[in-house]
Amino acid sequence: MGNFIENYGTNSFTDSVMKERLPKATYKSLKKTIEKGVILDLEVANIIASSLKDWAVEKGATHFTHWFQPLTDTTAEKHDAFVSPTSDGKALLEFSGKELTKGEPDASSFPSGGLRATCSARGYTAWDVTSPAFVRDGTLYIPTAFVSYTGEALDKKIPLLRSMEVLSKEAVRVLKVLGNTTTKKVTTTVGPEQEYFLIDKKVYDKRPDLVYTGRTLFGAKPPKGQELDDHYFGSLKERVSSYMKELDSELWALGIPAKTKHNEVAPSQHELAPIYGTTNVASDNNQVTMDVMKKVALRHGLVCLLHEKPFAGVNGSGKHNNWSMGTDDGENLLSPGKTPNENTQFLVFLTAVIKAVDEYSDLLRVSAANAGNDHRLGANEAPPAIVSIFLGDQLEDIIEQLEKGTATDSKFAPDLNLGVATLPVLHIDPTDRNRTSPFAFTGNRFEFRMVPSSGNIADCNIALNTVVAEVLSEIADRLEKATDVKAEIQAILTENVKDHKKIIFNGNGYSDEWVAEAEKRGLPNIKTTVEAAKALISDKNVAVFEKFGVLSKAELHSRYEVTLENYSTTISIEAATTLLIAKRQILPAVIKFETSLAGSIAAVKAAGVTTSVQTELLTEVATLGASLKNNIGLLEESVAKAESLSGDTYAIGHFYKFDVFEKMGKVREVADELETIVDSEFWPLPTYGELLFTV
Ligand code: ADP
Ligand code: MG
Repeated sequence: MGNFIENYGTNSFTDSVMKERLPKATYKSLKKTIEKGVILDLEVANIIASSLKDWAVEKGATHFTHWFQPLTDTTAEKHDAFVSPTSDGKALLEFSGKELTKGEPDASSFPSGGLRATCSARGYTAWDVTSPAFVRDGTLYIPTAFVSYTGEALDKKIPLLRSMEVLSKEAVRVLKVLGNTTTKKVTTTVGPEQEYFLIDKKVYDKRPDLVYTGRTLFGAKPPKGQELDDHYFGSLKERVSSYMKELDSELWALGIPAKTKHNEVAPSQHELAPIYGTTNVASDNNQVTMDVMKKVALRHGLVCLLHEKPFAGVNGSGKHNNWSMGTDDGENLLSPGKTPNENTQFLVFLTAVIKAVDEYSDLLRVSAANAGNDHRLGANEAPPAIVSIFLGDQLEDIIEQLEKGTATDSKFAPDLNLGVATLPVLHIDPTDRNRTSPFAFTGNRFEFRMVPSSGNIADCNIALNTVVAEVLSEIADRLEKATDVKAEIQAILTENVKDHKKIIFNGNGYSDEWVAEAEKRGLPNIKTTVEAAKALISDKNVAVFEKFGVLSKAELHSRYEVTLENYSTTISIEAATTLLIAKRQILPAVIKFETSLAGSIAAVKAAGVTTSVQTELLTEVATLGASLKNNIGLLEESVAKAESLSGDTYAIGHFYKFDVFEKMGKVREVADELETIVDSEFWPLPTYGELLFTV
């Protein structure tokens, strides 16, 4: 631990390692590939592969893997040894340029949403030079893109890289007409804040629902939840702190800049935020981070839950995707400066984002959709399922000025004098924060707060980059043609504000008033993953993805299918687990309790007492037990019906949501009530109290 700074990045094949280890000419051509996309020739790849292998072997690696991100929210890895037998019965360690740059995994078992028949299994992985390779647990990990034999993207990295390129191109065009001649590249930057729960492994092991589904399917409300606000930013327990320390040090060794850690709102909930980076690397890093979080937890006798809603009644987890655009000469395009009203460039980019988010809010919504997140969005703990933008007082005021014409001044927040000579005078930010907004401006970036905690942030960034690129390209088209650029900019700003201010909302996003108001404004309120999925195949959305070559119609259709299939499968597993627990654990426990009550009633009777508390309790338990049995039957019927459906994935998803899922809820309702009256000696599952308060 003491050496954490010296160890920073030691397990990552960073720029400085490459510079130090590669021959000068090789390093130069690799840099050209990384920065300008120039194709790497095999000769150069061979030299890099050999040096990469030597470095990895020094770090204890014996294997390499092409690491990729299929359409599930996980990562995939197949490990191959560097070993190559020689004629004298020994072996050499070898790694070629071909092995580095191209892999050929059997792709048949990865979801493709019908893009390819299972019999045509071939798929390829291609080295992503822009994301550093790293060593973990004896294997060299090479970040790669995953593509089908026929060239369709089967992963999230390919469209992400494409979306970054198109955004760069269109942003540079806009900058150029605005008079910036030096910027050659604009990069989108991302800092994802990651929420999670830590649960004691011994308690976790006794909950089949957590083991199979990542969330509790049963559990009565504990006497104490998050009501006292005593966990958020609270003092770290030593067990948690020691977990976090090991996590940080492992992430730092991988070159992942973990920066902020704290307790979150719910008991046992925490957050980790890294320092932001280039979107592609930030996205890869977040995938690694989630994996390291889970593995380090096990070493501490803990389990890290990344599910969006592990516990009913307490806050669930999300990810906040902090997003901005920066130029290659170091300028943040969403930085308002001291007087934003005079900062034309900022206003152009700001209003472009506003327009893009308004026009394509359904794409952002689906990028954050999964079965777990359906529990969070709109449940008064996370943003509603309605996409809106928070700008804060200062920008809201400027937007109002723009709507009427030019913006002539910027509001400021006065310094805060605390009235104590020894305390500093605070210069405060021109905007306050708004925790309830799904898309909040936070001073020099937007924070998209709908993202599911277990999800891949590539999804929302693919959408965001592409739709902002679209609006920037429209702006560039107009400005490039304009005879009076200044007047045209003014016109664009006013127009964008007028047409899209309906998406701006600074108030409380958790309130019922907002839901009503949003409906009046015509903003979509898409409550479920099943409904959200449709955005992936609407004509308008297909058009924008195809225009920029980020995703083809076929690729979008495959993602639509995968989203729905994944949803239905998740609910199907949850339903099966609900039945398993209800039938084999809860119902038997209820019967045991009934038997013990009956025995007790007989004993009391024998002692000459006629009416007893036991009789009342037995009646109550028996009634609830019958109702549980009945609800189990209804759920079983629903599951059987769901399993008999075939064909239309939308209809199947719809049935899972509005029939199977509803009936699961009914089983739970009765079971949770039983939990509150059945003798704890008989109850088969650790309670919420035991889950949430034992770490
Ligand atoms: P909060 O106070 O909102 O919880 P955190 O400090 O937890 O904020 O996280 C803020 C995140 O925003 C960090 O990951 C930070 O690196 C990131 N961030 C800061 N500036 C930018 C930027 N220009 N682009 C993208 N992300 C940024
Ligand atoms: Mg934070």
